[in-house]
Amino acid sequence: MSVRAAILTRIERAALAAGRDPADVTLVAVSKQQAWWAIEPVLQEGQAVFGENRVQEAQERWGIERFRHPDLELRLIGPLQTNKVKVALGLFGVIETVDREKLAVTIAEESSRGCFTPRLYVQVNTGSEPQKAGILPKDADGLLRICRGLGLEIEGLMAIPPADEPPRPHFMLLAEIAAANGIDKLSMGMSADFEDAVRCGATSVRVGSALFGSRPDPNLIARTDLSE
Ligand SMILES: *Cc1c(COP(=O)(O)O)cnc(C)c1O
Repeated sequence: MSVRAAILTRIERAALAAGRDPADVTLVAVSKQQAWWAIEPVLQEGQAVFGENRVQEAQERWGIERFRHPDLELRLIGPLQTNKVKVALGLFGVIETVDREKLAVTIAEESSRGCFTPRLYVQVNTGSEPQKAGILPKDADGLLRICRGLGLEIEGLMAIPPADEPPRPHFMLLAEIAAANGIDKLSMGMSADFEDAVRCGATSVRVGSALFGSRPDPNLIARTDLSE
């Protein structure tokens, strides 16, 4: 069995054990920093949804390749600077990291100029970590209202729990905020905890190292990139 097939089986088992339909959980293959030789076999196996956390890196990796795979769906799962919104709208089918009003406004403006509008998620900083991107839980309802006011439909919520805490309370907090706002898509769970996330209601899990092997820079997700 391939690594991908084994991960899909684990997702399926976790979903069934929680009384959920495994078809309601999407595997997002996080290809950031991975070599093409690691990505290609997974693509060939039928994986169509890939996550990237940097706009430029994603552009370099997928800018041309994506035209060979009409079913490909790229998801931005890292911080987005407003000056990169235009490029991001042209590249990603889903942006999971809407986390502030200024970004929402820019997305709304660029979309209204006739750009394709990706499906959007709001990222919540469930651990209220100062160095991490994401809207604070207490401000999430407000940002969701602002997005609606701008005409942006928010499909789901996304979170990256603190690395040094049990993830479950964070998954449950994200699910709670989503439910309170009538949102039913939850992007949560990574290599170390995706089964837990599925049990807590994840509709997509973002799996990198468990699928492709370790990355050169394991600290990448802790780094913030909001220099604007
Ligand atoms: C890198 C990254 C992942 C994947 O992490 P793994 O532990 O390698 O599965 C998931 N989500 C985000 C936002 C990331 O940046």
